[in-house]
Amino acid sequence: MNTIQIKDKKFSLSIPESEILEAVRKVGEEINRDLAHKNPLFICVLNGAFMFAGDLMKTVSVPCEITFIKLSSYDGLYTSGVVKEIIGLNESVVGRTVVVVEDIVDTGITMERILSSLRAKGASEIRVATFLQKPDALQRDIQVDYVAMKIPNDFIVGYGLDYDGYGRNLKDIYTVVE
Ligand code: 5GP
Ligand code: MG
Repeated sequence: MNTIQIKDKKFSLSIPESEILEAVRKVGEEINRDLAHKNPLFICVLNGAFMFAGDLMKTVSVPCEITFIKLSSYDGLYTSGVVKEIIGLNESVVGRTVVVVEDIVDTGITMERILSSLRAKGASEIRVATFLQKPDALQRDIQVDYVAMKIPNDFIVGYGLDYDGYGRNLKDIYTVVE
């Protein structure tokens, strides 16, 4: 059966690895066309985007750099979604084309914070590449330039995304079974 258990929840297979890799490859090819002479700096948002970034960058063939940031969002009692930088950016982005590489854009709150921080730091052009997007959950007016796959508003794990820290190593995407 294509069902797995992580802690107290059951998940069933929803996107197999072959479909994921095909979609990620297409994003890489679009980026190659769009950013050929822009010397982009890719900024992978840890932890969730590590697997997407790894596969994406195998297709990206334009001269580029890649770096990593780590954020943690504290929701708790606050609905505003405070996003804290745990590992910050060491590179200067002044005058630079940057591509934010994210695992998923859900409400868009995290991405809105990242974009305003990069604007404040002086990036000249900012693009967003996300592995997944939940269009029905979007609450912020942000531009997402590259989306590998759009999914319904259900909780998923795998391919970098976790449930309570587990499941990031799964090569396929699984959806929670209610
Ligand atoms: P946003 O700020 O766009 O609402 O949320 C972004 C973050 O929420 C993602 O980076 C991810 O950590 C988390 N997230 C949103 N939806 C899911 C999901 O279906 N599964 C997992 N594992 N994380 C999710
Ligand atoms: Mg993320």
